[in-house]
Amino acid sequence: MKNYKIIIVGSGIAGMAAAIRLKSLGYNVEIFEANSYAGGKLTAFKSNDYRFDMGPSLFTMPNLIEDLFEIANKPIENYFTYKRKSVICNYFYEDGTKFSAPSDIYEFAKSASVTFDVEEKTILDYLYNCQKKYDLTSSLFLENSLHKISTYLSKNTLKALLNLTKLDINKNLSDYNSTIFKDPRLIQFYNRFATYNGSSPYHTPGIMSMIPSLEQSFGTYFPKGGMHQITKSLEKLAKDIGIQFHFNTKVDEIITKRSKVLGIKTGKSFIPSDIVISNADIVPTYKKLLPQEKAPKKILSQERSSSALIFYWGITKTFPDLDLHNIFFSADYKNEFKSIFQDQLISDDPTVYINISSKEERTDAPEGCENWFTMVNAPTNNGQDWDAIIIQTRINIIKKLSRVLKVDLNQLINFESVLDPRDIEKKTQSYQGSLYGAASNSKFSAFLRHPNFSSSVSNLYFCGGSVHPGGGIPLCLWSGKITADIIHKSSKS
Ligand SMILES: Cc1cc2nc3c(=O)[nH]c(=O)nc-3n(C[C@H](O)[C@H](O)[C@H](O)COP(=O)(O)OP(=O)(O)OC[C@H]3O[C@@H](n4cnc5c(N)ncnc54)[C@H](O)[C@@H]3O)c2cc1C
Repeated sequence: MKNYKIIIVGSGIAGMAAAIRLKSLGYNVEIFEANSYAGGKLTAFKSNDYRFDMGPSLFTMPNLIEDLFEIANKPIENYFTYKRKSVICNYFYEDGTKFSAPSDIYEFAKSASVTFDVEEKTILDYLYNCQKKYDLTSSLFLENSLHKISTYLSKNTLKALLNLTKLDINKNLSDYNSTIFKDPRLIQFYNRFATYNGSSPYHTPGIMSMIPSLEQSFGTYFPKGGMHQITKSLEKLAKDIGIQFHFNTKVDEIITKRSKVLGIKTGKSFIPSDIVISNADIVPTYKKLLPQEKAPKKILSQERSSSALIFYWGITKTFPDLDLHNIFFSADYKNEFKSIFQDQLISDDPTVYINISSKEERTDAPEGCENWFTMVNAPTNNGQDWDAIIIQTRINIIKKLSRVLKVDLNQLINFESVLDPRDIEKKTQSYQGSLYGAASNSKFSAFLRHPNFSSSVSNLYFCGGSVHPGGGIPLCLWSGKITADIIHKSSKS
């Protein structure tokens, strides 16, 4: 192995994962971060005695975090602990139906068959098929580079290709779910998983029905201290093994010469490096950091995944009917996604997600109060009149929640902060404020994500939610792994 110096642009979850892996292999790794803090989208804030996780709230596949501690040879229990949730999420429908989704699949099937028009066996068969799709495709689509010949020569890929017809890539997720279930509430329930990668269930392919496996087969978890502990513990681990962070240091350019990386430019300084990994969104990486390199137009012009509008509310009451994760479905799901992806607006009846970490972490809100992270899916920032959209959406959300929960919610809000797609774009430099990079609204989307390496500039690599395999914490952790694996393999050859 060569003693390379590696610079990583950005300390998002994928950047830190790649850094920890490469440092553990003996490389000299430094991270340059524009913000004063690590974690990018995975951050938090405290105000008026409330603590809020600002970005991700759903934690699945903790084994991917565990791997990083194991690789770095540090005991995870000294840094990060978490517990499994027995209830995944509470669902509220416009017709008055309430459904609390148990984490155990047999209990789930039993409970769903009581609430919805469905046999237990139909649910269990559906979940078995979700798991099968995941097992068949994870090594091709998630755990290895889609853009390296070696991936296609593996036994697993061959198996996936032989089972192509079972993957339901030729129909959209909603049509697939409609072939299995009759009850529109259950179809809406399973259509919701398209939002886990910021896509529309009416366009994303049926193969995305593998997503429920992540939470229904592997479980959902809550990190002690909240989601921000993921960032904090990885940052501490990285520092403990000798990775240097440079905060408040925006990288202005990745310097290349004759198709080879030379280093980075930040302010007036040039910092040489053998390898550069960009954890910044792939669109600004090309547009701002690599102005001299030819950008892959087709890849960069792909439709972006959805963004979000979030109201962080301090609520002066506790709600026994609510849990850590709560969904209040819209009456017309199709119209909601048409608004987001076609009209670039938020519908008047959006599905509302409330995350309440004080249900698990009592000190996240004052006594007798709760911290509500109240989120609706939103279009990306294309210059809409966000101030007007925020005012109207706030009215619509409060009206909906007040009606369903039988309270005057306006009277209960004693703290408010708002995050909209413009803020997400500004704080994390994600193109148009999208949450997961490109959307997966076509069956070719996975293949159109940018590879984890540059094919025109040597020693230039990428990781994070906007490149392969995509956004969301587990996918970003895989992205960091794929990038580190490719670098290590090529340094040995
Ligand atoms: C509101 C919200 C809710 C979400 N919910 C979930 C969820 O429940 N579950 C889930 O799994 N995922 C969720 N996600 C998605 C998840 O947060 C992301 O997929 C993941 O955190 C992205 O990590 P990343 O490594 O791509 O980097 P990012 O978090 O995008 O960070 C990139 C970093 O690079 C830095 N940077 C960019 N340009 C430069 C530059 N020129 N110089 C220096 N630094 C630079 C940025 O400042 C930033 O810190 C959510 C995201 C948001 C915003």
